[in-house]
Amino acid sequence: MVEEILPGLHRVVVPLTGNPLKEINSYVLTSSNRNLIIDTGMNRPDCQEVLETGLDEIGVDLGRTDFIATHLHADHEALIATLLRSGSRAFMGALDAVPMKMPFDHWLKNNLVGDYAARGGFPAEELQSSLQNHPGKKYGARTIVDYIPLHGGEVFEVGEYSLEVVPTPGHTDGHVSLYEPSKKLFFSGDHVLGDITPNIQAWADEQDPLAAYISSLEKVDGLDVELCLPGHRRLVEDFSRRIAELVEHHRQRANEVISIVDGQRMTAYQIASEMSWDIVAPSWDDFPIMQRWFATGEAIAHLRYVEAKGLIRRELIDEQILYSSDGRARL
Ligand SMILES: [Zn+2]
Repeated sequence: MVEEILPGLHRVVVPLTGNPLKEINSYVLTSSNRNLIIDTGMNRPDCQEVLETGLDEIGVDLGRTDFIATHLHADHEALIATLLRSGSRAFMGALDAVPMKMPFDHWLKNNLVGDYAARGGFPAEELQSSLQNHPGKKYGARTIVDYIPLHGGEVFEVGEYSLEVVPTPGHTDGHVSLYEPSKKLFFSGDHVLGDITPNIQAWADEQDPLAAYISSLEKVDGLDVELCLPGHRRLVEDFSRRIAELVEHHRQRANEVISIVDGQRMTAYQIASEMSWDIVAPSWDDFPIMQRWFATGEAIAHLRYVEAKGLIRRELIDEQILYSSDGRARL
């Protein structure tokens, strides 16, 4: 589906069949000189067909088109490799561009995320299946793209649009958003979403992505935004109110994990199984395996956040990371 949002600015809604996100928004800015596409879709035939048909309909010449991936996730990034022509450039936040220089399997080996998940209580028999079913592996780009790193403050001029790169770490370390001050537009990737809350995951003790995320939300809250254009689902008109809702959502989630571990000693996987989730499934055991993976990563992000604030304890016992609290303190 193609929608004209403003002259020279279109949205192509690319389906993510079978994925709870349902669809991804690819934003297309056109001009007589060069075009810019923000986010694309997974490397899947259905995504490719819809996006290519949409780009034809808009009349995009890919030879004069540059790309920005707001972050490294396959649903945003993967089709850039397919659409890139010799005259195109592709950009990504500097910290996200680093892992994109290697195939997903190499990244996985270097990253030790599997070892950390095992210490977090993720069952060994589910671990391999999760990593093999990871969207980065299944639907990642068909070739390695040599991304030009973005550090923040860069400005992309396309016709009458002037987009400034704003680093918004949290959903990923190198996540970037784009701000158009004269038209009061904010392309938020997965930083601010309307109907759903962005997934914030941690897979290492030294990470505190939820603290980074909250601080990125507070940073952009001061911008004058009339229309937020997110990576998924509907456009957001009440930017500031949505930011307040997202901050409150995570405060409640943080308090939820504190209550769950109250008087207990639990792994992140056990805690995730007792948290409330929007997924339509009768029980935790019925969750699709990738959803158990994302849920556990999200539980760890909240646990890291409240642990850094001194509200829960973490111990390593028999190669398992166990969390506990006296349940009294709340955020
Ligand atoms: Zn994402």
